[in-house]
Amino acid sequence: MSTVNIPGLTERDSKHLWHPYTQHKTAAKPIGIVKGEGALLWDENGKQYIDAIASWWVNPYGHSNKFVADAIYRQLTSLEHVLFGGFTHEPVVSLSEKLVAILPDNQKKLFFSDNGSTAVEIAVKVALQYYYNKGEKRTKMLAFENAFHGDTFAAMAASGISFFTEAFKGSLIEVVRIPVPTAGNEEESLRQLTEMAATGEYAGFIFEPLVQGAAGMVMYEPEALDKLISVCKKYGVFTIADEVMTGFGKTGKYFACDYLNEKPDMMCLSKALTAGAIPMAITTFTQELFDGFYDDDVNKALFHGHTFTANPTGCAAALAGLELLQSDEMQENLVRINRMHHAFKDEIENHPRVANVRVLGVIVAFEIKREGNEDYYGDFRNKLYDFFIENGVILRPVGNIIYILPPYVISNELLVNIYDTVKLAIEKIA
Ligand SMILES: *Cc1c(COP(=O)(O)O)cnc(C)c1O
Repeated sequence: MSTVNIPGLTERDSKHLWHPYTQHKTAAKPIGIVKGEGALLWDENGKQYIDAIASWWVNPYGHSNKFVADAIYRQLTSLEHVLFGGFTHEPVVSLSEKLVAILPDNQKKLFFSDNGSTAVEIAVKVALQYYYNKGEKRTKMLAFENAFHGDTFAAMAASGISFFTEAFKGSLIEVVRIPVPTAGNEEESLRQLTEMAATGEYAGFIFEPLVQGAAGMVMYEPEALDKLISVCKKYGVFTIADEVMTGFGKTGKYFACDYLNEKPDMMCLSKALTAGAIPMAITTFTQELFDGFYDDDVNKALFHGHTFTANPTGCAAALAGLELLQSDEMQENLVRINRMHHAFKDEIENHPRVANVRVLGVIVAFEIKREGNEDYYGDFRNKLYDFFIENGVILRPVGNIIYILPPYVISNELLVNIYDTVKLAIEKIA
């Protein structure tokens, strides 16, 4: 594979650029990537990397996917963008029809924005304004401990990873946290949620369904979430499934909510939505929520919007992505990767340094046993990260948790290569 050689990207970067989640004084310099194809990336020195986390969970169908690129090109050369206030267009109408067909059947209305955080922001605003419009005082939200819902203000308020939000504590809406219903914690989680919901002070409950991504792929059972949702229904607390990470096949089904009997009132979609190519997000709603804003009084409207709302090119990418996701080939990939992950789990789970191996869909995660607690971005985590990069595998451990979430198009050979590198790390990194 030949790569374009652009010298000095790393050096040029450090002059003007500020990276996400990065302490620039202590962090290693970023790696200049010049090409991507399938599950592989190449840096400016020609070194190859396996993208074992689908570039932060966005890239399901492979880098530089030709089918997606062609769809984007066709859209760019017919209608690249048009305002969505007072106008509409074919890609967004088609996308709404195709998405509603696969969403839980109570999801009827779609509101577009640009990223996962704004999708969450809109869901929280809708929950709060719904009750405001009705003249009912419900101003608080419920969320899980260690949740991650994004970095804008309402999303931060809903997030429970403390060092992400510490500096803004005083400026956030009130969110009460309940325990995640992981094995053994189901009853306590349900008890605390019921106690809060029954007060009538809460507008909504936001959660990452079945898998808490940023917390380190923490998993819990659909039965437990079903119980929480049904309590919320009883007390008029709107449920918001943040499927920004889990959506579009990651859990083996189109959405994590497809494992549930209960249905959420709202869903947040982004990341893999546009096949990993263009920033876009959607918040989806029940008819009931939409109707809470439908009135002769203009002040009851949702006064929210973004310049690039429902950008046609983003919609074209999403339509191409949906077509790929629904293809037999991609559905077979999901089954294949899950089977490979289970075989890997069987192989490592009795290793004395390995704990809590868990698999759902294309996600496998486990902990490396250590004394004491691990910092999210601590030394041990950094050693692991560096080891993987040295060995040409992009993985971002969370503390002592290692997880793999590859693009669905990854070959078995590359998957085995990732597993082998992880097994080496289990042996070597103390
Ligand atoms: C990544 C993520 C977000 C935030 O999305 P951005 O596009 O990074 O703003 C929100 N919720 C979940 C569950 C996520 O994984």
